[in-house]
Amino acid sequence: MAITVAVLMCLATGGLAGNEPLEAWKAGIATVVITPEQPMWMAGYASRTKPSEGKIHDLYAKALALEDGQGTRLVIVAVDLIGFPREFRDRMEKEVGARYKLPPEGLLLNASHTHSGPELRAWRATQMWDLPPEQIELSKQYSETLRGKLVELVGQALADLTPARLSYVYARTGFAMNRRLQGAKGYSIAPNVDGPVDHEVPVLQVLSADGKKRRALMFGYACHNTTLSDYEFCGDYAGFAWRYVEEAHPGTTAFFITGCGADQNPTPRRTLEWAQQHGRALSNAVEAALLARPRPVRGPLKVALEEAMLELERPPSVEDLKKQASSTTASLYERRHAEELLAELEKTGRVSSTYPYLVHVARFGDDLTMVGLAGEVVVDYSLRLKKELAGPAVWVAGYTNEVSGYVPSRRVLEEGGYEARGAIVYYSTIPLPFTSSIETLIVDKVHELVRRTRTAASQ
Ligand SMILES: [Zn+2]
Repeated sequence: MAITVAVLMCLATGGLAGNEPLEAWKAGIATVVITPEQPMWMAGYASRTKPSEGKIHDLYAKALALEDGQGTRLVIVAVDLIGFPREFRDRMEKEVGARYKLPPEGLLLNASHTHSGPELRAWRATQMWDLPPEQIELSKQYSETLRGKLVELVGQALADLTPARLSYVYARTGFAMNRRLQGAKGYSIAPNVDGPVDHEVPVLQVLSADGKKRRALMFGYACHNTTLSDYEFCGDYAGFAWRYVEEAHPGTTAFFITGCGADQNPTPRRTLEWAQQHGRALSNAVEAALLARPRPVRGPLKVALEEAMLELERPPSVEDLKKQASSTTASLYERRHAEELLAELEKTGRVSSTYPYLVHVARFGDDLTMVGLAGEVVVDYSLRLKKELAGPAVWVAGYTNEVSGYVPSRRVLEEGGYEARGAIVYYSTIPLPFTSSIETLIVDKVHELVRRTRTAASQ
């Protein structure tokens, strides 16, 4: 017992004193408008039949650069976009590495997953095959321009690094509803009040070194950003939420980080009023969190970024693929997906059996662990990781660094439905469903990186 108490006291002392004084942090902030300058095809819904028509408000990219007393840096880039393709992330990582000596693990991208933004990968996804060539060209040009803007943005945030204090707190709000409803024919997308949700709203606060000025509020929520489905550019509920936070705190930059909301929809939805009301509910949760006394976040900062090699199902036989490609009962996208697999088999003789999946961990001393998972991540991951990593505050983001498909848990994969396999035909990047090892492989990688980024005080 005495040993336990001694260890606990040691932990407490180590934690309070920390390896860093509070003042050791530096933070820098930059923002840029990324609204396309002309009508463009919009991302997220295969049912759209024409390019965008105007905007409700501008789309933004924002960067928060953080540096601890030992010079370790992390730049978090939050954008009002559907998600980043892997090749976008890889090229941007190289460019910020060359220009600012920022290592790969120092760059964390997160997309709000608004379905009212431009399509970045019109030449890849199967539902985009019918686009007019000029729209495909516009999408390529937009991606190029965007990368240039984001590289500049990272530079501006790093140039803005000035002494800061960090603190963390959270509250809750309830408009995200589980959207996997079981019926006679399996799971469909419909509100399911009994399904799992993660209603927490994590908030990272960045104050000036003297604590007098609130420089940034970064907050998150696990919910699809899909209130709207029309033809005007808009940040959806997330875009309204950060605007409301900024209106309430003049001079503060607000950042939205998407959580593990792949199987969650804002409910109700489909009107501008609902997007605004959900934005208001989320910004109210940020206000509630601030009343709940944010706790100091100390360093040191440790970051790690690695791939977990996920396993994919074996492809159907050539015979079955041919049947599917010419089936009269299969959807257009199912037929195209079968054609793509056939073309790949013909060209290379095989279809990939693995997928390199990015896992990002940023550990802020013993006070906060941020986990950034790639893809459209279902809520089971944040609920599980928050339980298993309990101790320091845990913030689990999805839609991080790359979005190339859904990331089901073992449960969702076994239950089936859109997030398990139905959505695969709309993406061209992950060719086949994951095997049931997916959850273990991802969670094990998170634990490995969390162990590696553990500070001396907590060992
Ligand atoms: Zn989605």
